[in-house]
Amino acid sequence: MTTRGMLIVLSGPSGVGKGTVRKAMFRDKKRDFVYSISMTTRKPRPGEVNGVDYYFCSKAQFEQEIANGGMLEYARYVDNYYGTPLKYVNQTLDAGKDVFLEIEVNGAMQVRKKCPDGVFIFLTPPDLSSLKKRITGRGSEDQKTIDKRMLKAVEEIKMMRQYDYAVVNDTIRNAVHRIERIIESEHLRVPRV
Ligand code: 5GP
Repeated sequence: MTTRGMLIVLSGPSGVGKGTVRKAMFRDKKRDFVYSISMTTRKPRPGEVNGVDYYFCSKAQFEQEIANGGMLEYARYVDNYYGTPLKYVNQTLDAGKDVFLEIEVNGAMQVRKKCPDGVFIFLTPPDLSSLKKRITGRGSEDQKTIDKRMLKAVEEIKMMRQYDYAVVNDTIRNAVHRIERIIESEHLRVPRV
């Protein structure tokens, strides 16, 4: 019988650099785990590719997917939907492969309830000013959206205690290295019976 894969959830406040860290993880090395591409109703940013960065879809399509029970989790985040398609995650875990999710905190807490055996990693900023710089510096959002994301980020940081690990994103390299070590250690755990 194949051992079911491990679900790894990387989460943290808006602007902490989750996406950047995740991209670096998959760019630098060939991994034993796969990234689950999310669905979103957000419009693509310049350079983003459908089916690579996200599955971009309409609100109606997303709501249909929810109604069909096709989402492992989803959240409304700054006026858009984001969610994890259930089928891909289940099929991959069943095949014995680990799956890596990069999602915001509300979605992560839904996954926590459904998959308590998952590994939940919270990426934190070294401080709040670096977070503000990142959110402002992206340059693709208007002031109202920036303010919303900043407020949201402060709320999200309070959720850290719900996670198994906290990883400071001081540099991308350090953060990736810390996450690699967490995953390695989790694989060495003696199975609970
Ligand atoms: P962005 O618009 O910057 O790409 O993403 C906004 C937020 O949505 C980020 O915090 C990102 O981690 C989160 N996100 C991306 N995909 C998902 C998903 O499938 N589910 C949930 N709940 N959040 C997601």
